[in-house]
Amino acid sequence: MKAIRISGIGERLTQTHIAIPIPAAGEVLVAVRAAGICHSDAHYRSGIGSLRQLPITPGHEVAGIVESVGAGVSRERVGERVCLHYLVTCGKCSYCRGNIGQFCPDVAMIGKDRDGGYAEYICVPEQNAFTLPDEIPFTHAAVMMCSFATALHALRKARFAEGESVAIFGAGGLGTAAIALSAAMGASSIIAIDNIGAKVKAARSMGAIGIDASDTDVVEAVMDSTDGRGIDVALEFVGLPITSEQAVRSLGVQGRAAMVGLASAPTPLDMYRDLIGKEREVIGVSDHLPEEIDELLALVQQGRLDIAPVISNTVPLDETAVNKVFEEFDSYSGKGIRTVITIE
Ligand SMILES: [Zn+2]
Ligand SMILES: [Zn+2]
Repeated sequence: MKAIRISGIGERLTQTHIAIPIPAAGEVLVAVRAAGICHSDAHYRSGIGSLRQLPITPGHEVAGIVESVGAGVSRERVGERVCLHYLVTCGKCSYCRGNIGQFCPDVAMIGKDRDGGYAEYICVPEQNAFTLPDEIPFTHAAVMMCSFATALHALRKARFAEGESVAIFGAGGLGTAAIALSAAMGASSIIAIDNIGAKVKAARSMGAIGIDASDTDVVEAVMDSTDGRGIDVALEFVGLPITSEQAVRSLGVQGRAAMVGLASAPTPLDMYRDLIGKEREVIGVSDHLPEEIDELLALVQQGRLDIAPVISNTVPLDETAVNKVFEEFDSYSGKGIRTVITIE
């Protein structure tokens, strides 16, 4: 089968032919129909978030059709449309039993610790394959598996409540998903901050107040938009020290900043000025929970959440096209929101 893989840290992705994997006991083999290209994939290629093996097939936003099943899995699943939860866990440890499987000592992420979706086929445990309703396209399901699921988890971790205001730092895949979700969940106002004009414009077209960080004092602009009170919930999706600091300093009294972007450098915070004096909170957000996938599928089925605005482009499973998206991520120059690899 065709696969686009990371062969070495910092190297261009390479297109290769490898054997179609054989599903082990309890696993399903899925013919990939859509795989989102996430900024994290470019981070893994650069060496941020260490990869457990090389070469590896990246891709953790995956949807497709069950092609075959391993021992112990019902044959009835063959032909089922599915989307894949990207964390494979033991299911038995205290973290798994406590429904926080992302901290399982044996956790393996598809596309990082085991082969992911930039390929024609992928194997996962059958419990990772969620039934995808017919009315949800594969491309939509793919981006729900990371961008939307993680944005939902961030809102939950920040204890977002209906009627609160939300500021979103970074209007890329996750940020745009967060705009759509915050609106669906009843945010009183949504501010989106990015330094790329096209992304600010896209955020505005989704109903957010757009702030262009390239020509504005971001914290001042957020304060102006909230009558000087500051924001209730800030979601940080960029991972740069500057945006992390802005997220915290934009908060109002008892505001919560959920940090999601994979940071590559420390953020200087003044404990009194930035946190204590206003009882602000900084919250780390890692991945998401399987139950949040069910919640998202339900929101889309009920017509409350539209995934389409997040997908800006589709490309075939092709080395040149995928490398171009990675280059845009590395230079933070991409004008699109989320590119999805599609396989007919
Ligand atoms: Zn991702
Ligand atoms: Zn476990």
